[in-house]
Amino acid sequence: MITMLQYLIILLDKGSSSFCHYRVPLKSKGNSLIPIEMLKQGIRFGMTENLMIQYVYPDYVLPTEYTEVIESIDHSKIKPMKDGADVWVTESIKDINAKVPVVWQTDKNTLFKSEADIINSLKNVPRLNIVMTDVDSFTNEDFEKYKQLLNALSGYIEKLYLEEKNPQLNLLTDRIMLSKMNNCGAGDTTITLAPNGKFYVCPAFYYEDETDSIGELEHVLDIKNKQLYKLEYAPICRHCDAYQCKRCIWLNRKTTLEVNTPSHEQCVVAHLERNASRNLLNCIRKHNSFLPEQEDIKEIDYLDPFDKKEEWGW
Ligand code: SF4
Repeated sequence: MITMLQYLIILLDKGSSSFCHYRVPLKSKGNSLIPIEMLKQGIRFGMTENLMIQYVYPDYVLPTEYTEVIESIDHSKIKPMKDGADVWVTESIKDINAKVPVVWQTDKNTLFKSEADIINSLKNVPRLNIVMTDVDSFTNEDFEKYKQLLNALSGYIEKLYLEEKNPQLNLLTDRIMLSKMNNCGAGDTTITLAPNGKFYVCPAFYYEDETDSIGELEHVLDIKNKQLYKLEYAPICRHCDAYQCKRCIWLNRKTTLEVNTPSHEQCVVAHLERNASRNLLNCIRKHNSFLPEQEDIKEIDYLDPFDKKEEWGW
């Protein structure tokens, strides 16, 4: 299947906030804005390729001349402050309240202690996306804690649905709405322009190694082994129905050295979410005919699709 680039992420500063699994190294913080001519060139590139632009902001107010350039094209803003954000990224879940979707970036131990705060926030935001920065370090004990947390949150979400509210929490409500994979698309549908004028598969690749670029503004894009970023070439993921999984290309490479092969931890975490979503869907359907057009999520006996590899003829 041929997919085309659809999104261009522009990091406005080397210290732009992270909205995903990677952390921005401390040494990258501080003013290191993309030069304004480079920003204009990036926007031109986006227009020529017909890409939707997503700007990722640092935690300070940009000079006025930047604001004018930024506003010169359709875009969305990912910001570490609520003001003017289309997506607000925060590292604290305490007392959050917003009219726009919120991304909460956290480590697993903070997450396990935050049930009450998550429950509280679900009433106060249209959507909560939780992204963990240390999925690759999950142990069996962590899997158990994660499962318990998901079950507790699921009970609360069920209650909200029955009150005819529409809470959205990526870990539990995405899978019940999806009927095919909905993953991040880095290197396939999305690329990133960094403040050094180079393109990267995603921001995490830039922060990990600046020499690991896939092209520069003045030259054509050069994504090596492009097909490997596509689902069809992901030997495990293409057999999977944890449709909500981020299928993080950067985590894959970090943990297995292959962009299209996930780690055991990423798969188990995604399957715990999948199974908790299944329970949630079944529980809601006991009360009413919720999402009748949506197929049931079937019961499965594994948490890591790799364990089933013989069944797909590996
Ligand atoms: S759970 Fe594992 S196999 Fe399934 S999409 Fe996610 S990374 Fe791929």
